[in-house]
Amino acid sequence: MDKWPETLQEAIQYFTEEANCNAFMIAIRWADGVVRCPHCDSDNVTYLPSQRRWKCYSKHPRPQFSLKVGTIFEDSPLGLDKWLPAVWLICNCKNGISSYELSRDLAITQKSTWFMLHRIRLAMQTGTWKKLGGPGSAIEADETFVGGKLANMHLDKQTRMRMGKKRTGGYEGKTVVMGLLERHSKGSKARVKVLPNTRAWHVRRNVIENVERGSNVYSDGLHSYRNLPVDGYIHEFIDHAEAYVRGQVHTNGLENFWSLFKRALKGTYVSVEPYHLQAYADEQCFRFNERKSTDFQRFALTMMQIVGRRLTYKELTGKQEELERDPG
Ligand SMILES: [Zn+2]
Repeated sequence: MDKWPETLQEAIQYFTEEANCNAFMIAIRWADGVVRCPHCDSDNVTYLPSQRRWKCYSKHPRPQFSLKVGTIFEDSPLGLDKWLPAVWLICNCKNGISSYELSRDLAITQKSTWFMLHRIRLAMQTGTWKKLGGPGSAIEADETFVGGKLANMHLDKQTRMRMGKKRTGGYEGKTVVMGLLERHSKGSKARVKVLPNTRAWHVRRNVIENVERGSNVYSDGLHSYRNLPVDGYIHEFIDHAEAYVRGQVHTNGLENFWSLFKRALKGTYVSVEPYHLQAYADEQCFRFNERKSTDFQRFALTMMQIVGRRLTYKELTGKQEELERDPG
């Protein structure tokens, strides 16, 4: 292997070769570059070029396996020559890529690309449960609304007045998305969560679950944030009816994130079912948080999570029997 692809054109070219697809998968799955059987972990295996599969010499059922076994590509009839360019496209297209575009690019049906994109999004979900922030750090908290007639409207004072006391419902078909952003000189990191509504309990729980105590939390004046200080956060808010910035107290980082997110939703995905919104939000978050990486780095990072995401995919597809097996 001389060199990995760096641009879209190089990637498309590179992954048309089966040997290159395999080389990449092996490099990302096994640090020592030695292929092992997914069933028994033996390295006594041989490649069968006509089958495009490996064969394990240990005695057990299903001795043949492909490099897709144990990843979110498992049980897909599509080859790595379709999957790898698809991953490259979704993690590197700034506004995402629709199943229709991907269908044209890869010359396969839109139904197939729709499922592919959902599987890949699964891998783009945050791989860490580490909380944001810590003492001295600055966290922005803000929420936005997606869908419905008042599409993509920020919950400013005017909106809140028009919505009156309808705080318990889904705001007339709109979905609440809450964002948290840790400011950092090397690049802020965002995390987003779809909430049932903006009631204090949900907002506070989301902060407690995702932000270290002792952090500075900056938000707008939404009522639901006002009780945060009792939980050990240094909370300051700004009433957007009066001003948007007061020194460090602002949510401009998240405003920037929301504008990218809405551009992807409106321009690329057009209409997103509320049920799938979390996945699209995570996809946008991944590209935002990795915006300083190169295309190849973003691709490799997504691929590492694809390899590690087998359990999540199994859980989703209800194939529980796989969970008992090798968790590595
Ligand atoms: Zn084996």
